[in-house]
Amino acid sequence: MKCLNCNNSLVNNWSLKELFGIEEMIPDNLCQFCRSRLIILSAEKGCSRCFKTIDNNICQDCLLWEKKYQIINCHQSLFEYNRFIHSYFKNYKRYGDILLAELFFKDLYKWSKYHKFDLVTYIPASNGHLKERGFDPVWEMYHDVFDLTPMLVKLDADKPQAQKNRYERLQTPQTFYLHSNNVDISTKNSILILDDIYTTGRTMMHARSALEIAGFKNICTFSLSR
Ligand SMILES: [Zn+2]
Ligand SMILES: [Zn+2]
Repeated sequence: MKCLNCNNSLVNNWSLKELFGIEEMIPDNLCQFCRSRLIILSAEKGCSRCFKTIDNNICQDCLLWEKKYQIINCHQSLFEYNRFIHSYFKNYKRYGDILLAELFFKDLYKWSKYHKFDLVTYIPASNGHLKERGFDPVWEMYHDVFDLTPMLVKLDADKPQAQKNRYERLQTPQTFYLHSNNVDISTKNSILILDDIYTTGRTMMHARSALEIAGFKNICTFSLSR
């Protein structure tokens, strides 16, 4: 097998749990060398509400969301946005290497096994982006891990998020409206929203708020990186 990222040969280092059948054996698409370049995030190492790497228990952004909008943020991410993740997203999203959607399959699949929700949805690409790129990067990354229900539609923004500075991102107005599907909210007591990267949290807050207006409660969010 070859690493999907660097094309070097890949040896699966199975854990004891996997070898003894306690955990499912999921082949890795990422070699040990590439894996060593990732920084794993956790609630213990950072903000307990969004996994931001800080010394305090709750970061300033999350405190602000609570104070200003009465939102108790509930976000998890797997990896810190470092140079490795930056170049991954450049190849995947900017250069359109769709095979890279599978690079973190093992990590995402394992996370999905330990975190259960009644409904899982995602931040969709806007129509303009979809036409330009030819695929929806968030859907491609998660659709074979979670049973995804489209709940949101994204309007085309004046400027792509990546070209905005932090202040501009925080000022961005609501860009989501609800997808016209018939989901019975009364049976959905918890909902997860997926995205690829979490920066200021503003995109997720807009997505949350669109779903809250529709009547959803217990909303958590997840991104591969932050
Ligand atoms: Zn590699
Ligand atoms: Zn936080």
